[in-house]
Amino acid sequence: MVTDRSRGCIALTFDDGPDPAGTPAVLDALRAAGVRATFFVIADRAQRHPQLARALADAGHEAGLHCYHHIDHRRVGATRFVEDLLAGLHVLRSLGFAVRRWRPPWGRAPAEAFTAARRHGLRPTGWSLDPQDWAGSSAGDMAGRIGGSLGAGDVVLLHDGVGPGARRDSAAETAALIPALATLAKARGWRLGPVSDRSEHAAMLRRRSEVTSPA
Ligand SMILES: [Zn+2]
Repeated sequence: MVTDRSRGCIALTFDDGPDPAGTPAVLDALRAAGVRATFFVIADRAQRHPQLARALADAGHEAGLHCYHHIDHRRVGATRFVEDLLAGLHVLRSLGFAVRRWRPPWGRAPAEAFTAARRHGLRPTGWSLDPQDWAGSSAGDMAGRIGGSLGAGDVVLLHDGVGPGARRDSAAETAALIPALATLAKARGWRLGPVSDRSEHAAMLRRRSEVTSPA
């Protein structure tokens, strides 16, 4: 029996790139699996690696803003955090990205940043499943960790960038997780795609993935 839930889309999201240490492997795996995804881009890295930024756009992936620098608002304060957000947005739009979503570093931001983001047409976007790929687990372990709870409307948090605190030096296991999740989703009748492809019905099933209030 086909249920409403089975028609949903599961979103794969990749933070902290573009990064030569991870983005090419992730793009290759997405291409091989025939999957489009959402990348929450660090604008400073997009400036330093414009060819990788272009590659993800050329492949049809959705680009959202992560930040200009990967700062923590509890350390820098709201004013500088908002300046960073707006600087990052300016850079990505200057590079030609139609940016409509924003995920703050670590999913945390002051109220002023949520206000500024919405004023500039950005929808705050969180996640509902976190396999903690930065911690260096194997793709098999990560699939086992989230596979049982994976469902329509979920937003999976992954990283194509190797960021501060990562216990890995590449995104090889993240790339290897992509075909595993594609196989799992297909077997259950779900589709993998960018965040914005999720149906409203599926999104309603998993409200956790929308960041609705400041952390
Ligand atoms: Zn990040």
